Amino acid sequence: MRALINFFLDLDLRYGWIESSLFAAKAVGKGPYHARTLRRWTILYMRHSVLPVCNIQGGLSLMDDEDFSQQIHLHLLQVGKSRPNGDVCAQDIVDFMKTPAMKTHLGKKAGISLRTAQRWMERMGWRYGEAKKGMYKDGHERPEVVEYREKFCERWAGYSKRMATFNNEGERVSDPTGIDFANGLYPLIHVTHDESTFYANDRRRKRWNHSESTVPQPKGEGQSIMVSDFLTREWGRLEHDGEEARTIFKAGKNRDGYFTNDDLVEQVDRAIDIFEAKTHGFARALFTFDNATTHRKRSVDGLSALKMRKSPALKEGPRMRDGTKPNGEKQSFYYPDDHKEMPGWFKGMEQILRERDLWRDGLRSQCGKDFKCAEGATDCCCRRILYCQPDFANQKSHLEELIEARGHICDFYPKFHCELNFIEQYWGAAKLRYRATPRTSSIDEMERNMIDCLDSVPILQIRRYANRSSRFIDAYRKGLDGAQAAWAARKYHGHRTLPADILRELREAKLA
Ligand SMILES: [Zn+2]
Repeated sequence: MRALINFFLDLDLRYGWIESSLFAAKAVGKGPYHARTLRRWTILYMRHSVLPVCNIQGGLSLMDDEDFSQQIHLHLLQVGKSRPNGDVCAQDIVDFMKTPAMKTHLGKKAGISLRTAQRWMERMGWRYGEAKKGMYKDGHERPEVVEYREKFCERWAGYSKRMATFNNEGERVSDPTGIDFANGLYPLIHVTHDESTFYANDRRRKRWNHSESTVPQPKGEGQSIMVSDFLTREWGRLEHDGEEARTIFKAGKNRDGYFTNDDLVEQVDRAIDIFEAKTHGFARALFTFDNATTHRKRSVDGLSALKMRKSPALKEGPRMRDGTKPNGEKQSFYYPDDHKEMPGWFKGMEQILRERDLWRDGLRSQCGKDFKCAEGATDCCCRRILYCQPDFANQKSHLEELIEARGHICDFYPKFHCELNFIEQYWGAAKLRYRATPRTSSIDEMERNMIDCLDSVPILQIRRYANRSSRFIDAYRKGLDGAQAAWAARKYHGHRTLPADILRELREAKLA
């Protein structure tokens, strides 16, 4: 099987699928019948990670199949909808896997154990909720997430007019519309970003995008390599003239052991250089990122009410930039350098509020130890008042500032919606290939294998992934929720958009 895959994926050989299988069979002294068996096994393996002979190194899991894991995920969302608290449990997967449709994924196996189901849930990013033990909650349909999703999809509708589209055969089927160079309306090229980690030994796949963890991920524990890259529908990976936007971090080889927001900002800056060289300035990039806290970090001098103290103090380190008072005047947060008592001191929140005519006697610094104000409160404490001031509230992230300053667009996907970021499926495809590579003895060898696998995902596949994400965005725009969107995306496989009366269809299918 490995030979078959290698023959088929080898770009120099250019063998077809059947040809590759015949060669692979011949290599072990067998004929066309064996070749056919090999093809069947390999497809089964590629699609479902199920192996007839149950031993390829690395420990495969059905969860490595992106479509399959999303089917489970969305089934759980559907189940959750019918429960009072939206709770689901691992047993729901066990039951789901007993259905005839799911049994085919398992091959001969009768079902899965509860422990396996729990592992799958953890892997899909479900966390134990506070409510009851053994119950999981998912953020996918949380009200604030849905609200953000609606706004994102609206913005997307605007972007997509200026983008070219491709069909599932990879052909360009429409050109950008509404282009007006004189008024700054350039064609848009969507450049999506994500990071992913490849592991040498356990080869487990880490899903960062589902968790809201604020802790930066270590670049590597043991033998692992992290890749941070950009994908486009137009060209696949972002590269030009031998320059590439991809960044690779090897365990233990880097400055501080973490891929930080600063690293990403630097990488994006380089990506913009490459983009502009490639398009000769005749297009604008729409950069999209996962909505991770680390991606939304503000630049060091960005306005933040979280770091401020109430009273004046002499502060070391980088200064915050000027704010803007409600009346539009600039406001420095520091006393002038020739101030008699406090030269160059930070003014403190009290003074800042006084200058904005927002101070009142008895205001505390913040509510409680953790800045936990009453829900909806806007003027309960100094920090909350400043936090709600337009200049603070509108402070953009470092990434947005950089990208906009360079004339491009920056946006963030809704949280928990990995189906919208098509690079996710690209990682999945590269990792399937990677798992078929031999175990390596050195990290450099591992890196070479990994890069080969990353580079071997064909552009056609990338365009299909992008179409699939567009289909989901379209579904959400038409008012579908996660479970309905998944159903519709499966039904209209191969389309970029869904029929206008999709809601009626859902009602008929009793999903709405
Ligand atoms: Zn408060």
